[in-house]
Amino acid sequence: MKSLFKITVILICCFSSLGTAATTQPGMGVDLTGDIVGGVPIITRLAAKQLPTGRHRFYFLAGRQNAGAAIHVPVEVIKGKKTGKTLLLTAAVHGDELNGIRALHKLMEDIDPDTLAGTIISVPGINQTGLVGNSRHFITSAANGAKDDLNRRFPGKLTGGGTAARYVGNIWHNLLKNNADMVVDLHTQTTGTEYPLFVFADMRNAKVKQMAQALMPDIIKNDEGQSGTLETTFMKLGVPAVTYELGAPKVFQPDMIRRAVLGLKNLMVAEGFLSGSVIEPVVPSFVGGNYTNVYAEDGGIVVVQVDLLENVEKGQLIAIGYDAFGSENKRYIAPHAGKVLARATDPFREAGTMLVRIIR
Ligand SMILES: [Zn+2]
Repeated sequence: MKSLFKITVILICCFSSLGTAATTQPGMGVDLTGDIVGGVPIITRLAAKQLPTGRHRFYFLAGRQNAGAAIHVPVEVIKGKKTGKTLLLTAAVHGDELNGIRALHKLMEDIDPDTLAGTIISVPGINQTGLVGNSRHFITSAANGAKDDLNRRFPGKLTGGGTAARYVGNIWHNLLKNNADMVVDLHTQTTGTEYPLFVFADMRNAKVKQMAQALMPDIIKNDEGQSGTLETTFMKLGVPAVTYELGAPKVFQPDMIRRAVLGLKNLMVAEGFLSGSVIEPVVPSFVGGNYTNVYAEDGGIVVVQVDLLENVEKGQLIAIGYDAFGSENKRYIAPHAGKVLARATDPFREAGTMLVRIIR
């Protein structure tokens, strides 16, 4: 238990590669364990508004694995010289969804505390065991092979509950909950599938609508939210939040990352974090209210016949199934007109897995 004690130290954190330095003192915005890993202090609580101006990097002690090793979630905070709101950015709640990590790294490189109004917090890697295990899920060593979807577990539990609920509860209560005036949670589609640049947003909320549009996605799904997600848990607290979907999993897609960084900067301009002019996209985002998934009817090979963002008509051929010898055995058609929001990229599909998602 000793590493959980708060101790009184003064740490000078130097980030020579970034040319900035910040001083973290006891009581000034973090609870320190006293441990330092790779020059980065370990914390058990963040109160970002109390941090001094500048750039700060921490590892949040999110939990421990079965053999006792600490699970560290990286956190970067830039506290601007000017006062303003706090923008919280999270990525990799699903451990196979990587574009958001790169987008946050690149965004944070570009932000200068001297010109920032307010505070930006980047948490680029919420699901550490999923990242290690190449998995959407939070992987534990439980004998039953438990694989938890952390984005159905928020706000988690501080006491009681299973491993994933406690992990989420600690992150929620001690890292996220009290450090946000607005939130963008970065994802991608799951393994074997892909999205365009896409936002889930509850457009009934005027601020959320503005946020979704400032992010300049190809498509916005007007969505009441889903219980247990990071987005909806913040919305229930009254903190405007959206889920920003950046393409495909397990890759860094340069164009998707570039567009996400541009969208996040545009949001920061619109909300007064950065100076500049808000970009009005030439082609506004397509806004849809509902979508339909077309699922594989049987296990086997399925070749999708439509591209992302393609407009499809009702009855249009969208995928062809083949047996293990390559003989065609199934044709899939669009159940209604709309736009292709997601598609399978892995042609080896099990029954019940998504082939094409059509939004209208
Ligand atoms: Zn996700």
